[in-house]
Amino acid sequence: MPVYEYVCIECKERTEVRATFAEKEKGLKVVCPKCGSKKMAQVFGTFMTIRSSNGGSNLSGCGPLSGPGCCG
Ligand SMILES: [Zn+2]
Repeated sequence: MPVYEYVCIECKERTEVRATFAEKEKGLKVVCPKCGSKKMAQVFGTFMTIRSSNGGSNLSGCGPLSGPGCCG
């Protein structure tokens, strides 16, 4: 079962979530273990397996949900 890493938008706490691809597609309900916020953004970069169906070519390691301060 793959592990997805999420970061809290509110407090930047990171957490890992185990879910099947089916569960992921249905939409994971990730809650911050620190502040309880549901504003969680998936962190890309720890996994090199890109399974994108829209053939994105702008994979610079910094996703649209990464927020400020990403990429260093
Ligand atoms: Zn949080």
